[in-house]
Amino acid sequence: MSKKIAIIGSGFGGLALAIRLQASGLETVILEKRDKPGGRAYFYEEKGFHFDAGPTVITAPHIFEELFELTDKKMEDYIELIPIDPFYRLLWPDGEVFNYNSDMNALYAQIEKLNPKDVRGYKKFLKFSNAVFKEGYEKMVDHPFQSIWSMVKVAPQLLLLQSFRSVYSMVSKYIKHPKLRQAFSYHTLLLGGSPYSSSAIYSLIHALEHKWGVWFAKGGTSALVAGLVKLYEDLGGTLHLNCAVQSIETNDNNEVVSIHNVNGERLEIAAVASNADIYHTYNELLSDNKTAQKKTKVLKRKKFSPSLFLLHFGLRREHPQLAHHTILFGPRWKELLEDIYHNGVLPEDNALYLHAPSVTDKSMAPEGCSAYYALAVVPNLGKLNIDWSIEKERYKEVIYQQLEERCIPNLREDLVVEKIFTPIDFEKELNSYQGAAFSMEPLLIQSAFFRIHNSDQKIKGLYFTGAGTHPGAGVPGVVNSAKATARIMIDNLKNG
Ligand SMILES: Cc1cc2nc3c(=O)[nH]c(=O)nc-3n(C[C@H](O)[C@H](O)[C@H](O)COP(=O)(O)OP(=O)(O)OC[C@H]3O[C@@H](n4cnc5c(N)ncnc54)[C@H](O)[C@@H]3O)c2cc1C
Repeated sequence: MSKKIAIIGSGFGGLALAIRLQASGLETVILEKRDKPGGRAYFYEEKGFHFDAGPTVITAPHIFEELFELTDKKMEDYIELIPIDPFYRLLWPDGEVFNYNSDMNALYAQIEKLNPKDVRGYKKFLKFSNAVFKEGYEKMVDHPFQSIWSMVKVAPQLLLLQSFRSVYSMVSKYIKHPKLRQAFSYHTLLLGGSPYSSSAIYSLIHALEHKWGVWFAKGGTSALVAGLVKLYEDLGGTLHLNCAVQSIETNDNNEVVSIHNVNGERLEIAAVASNADIYHTYNELLSDNKTAQKKTKVLKRKKFSPSLFLLHFGLRREHPQLAHHTILFGPRWKELLEDIYHNGVLPEDNALYLHAPSVTDKSMAPEGCSAYYALAVVPNLGKLNIDWSIEKERYKEVIYQQLEERCIPNLREDLVVEKIFTPIDFEKELNSYQGAAFSMEPLLIQSAFFRIHNSDQKIKGLYFTGAGTHPGAGVPGVVNSAKATARIMIDNLKNG
């Protein structure tokens, strides 16, 4: 039997790559550390409540359709996607509400209410966002940036699109009202970036959501993961759970030859693609490799994204007044993000994202009940190394208090189940360096050629897929990273 390609980790990036390789005729095996697939898209079930642990906002559904079409299968036979409207409800502490979707007239009316002059500005911003989408998404998102020349080639477009500016600065160029500036720039946080430092290239998210909408997988994001696992297995792939990889072995020619797993097995392989954290891969899995150890030193100087504090809870009551996705802005914005990204301060007045899937899909909770998670962006462990096992109970109450005051009255009286996931869990469960929730921050100087390449230039047979490589975090990002990596792997492994 010929040697297989090993994929370390079953996040969306790992699954999408495995499917692409398998569909091309290359034989693969996925080795996953945890007891369920999906990586950050893990799930918990307790007392009939179903909680998605990570991504909930599904955009660009065609990236999944493409995977099914590789082998003439139909996505609807595996997964059902439901459109979400509004895409997000935005709430401010003074009670202001903004329902954000792609209904242009409704959007203009809401913008006009806040500042009539911003309607014109918003139209210009949308035009800019569409232009960035064309250049930055359609032309670059699934193309690997392996050489400095690939970067030089796109430099003129990047300059033209003012990608050296931040998303917030570009939005502010067109839109004046502070709330609207927040409304059209917070999206970078979903990828781990501050709107004040993420490249204006990420303004394309606005156009992307307008073009393809926001979706939810029936049964939760975990149902989307299950659909991809089924597709992978239908294509003949093998997924091993509870099977952490402990090391990647290279020979004297700096070629990958085998992997060693937690069960003491050694598997000879044709190549390996790591979907695990980039720092973990170089520092721990390749601890005997000199090239990798040099890379580790370089990675230590990079900026990693913040972490997250996640509070999952199930209530014995329904709250149909809620939107599926709500952003609760706090009293501060720029200073708040500075505390999280730079000062290493845990904010008491944090902004929150509230996920209320039962509003769309009743199967997420027992009859008459509802399931939620609240998420707060918090400093990573490199910035703030507190004892989360103590802090988590206190911070939980801060969040409950805010939710009770602003959108879920008497929440704590109705609690049936709860679960907390902190930066320490990102580090321990997911092997994330500094407990970062989104790998390296999406800064221009850490993007495209300046991110970890889809294939290592010096260690032969080592590839990457997922948030740490090009184009970066977010479900569309990692699924597109798999496309970029598959291109190189299929070329190297099939065509020599
Ligand atoms: C709470 C949260 C909410 C989010 N919400 C959204 C959203 O709504 N929309 C969106 O687009 N994006 C969202 N994101 C971002 C998005 O979820 C991630 O960027 C993306 O899912 C990461 O996928 P990945 O392919 O990089 O792999 P990961 O999900 O990071 O998976 C990596 C896998 O590797 C495994 N692994 C690690 N080390 C080893 C080892 N040594 N051996 C074997 N296996 C190993 C891990 O167990 C894990 O399963 C969210 C992220 C979080 C954390």
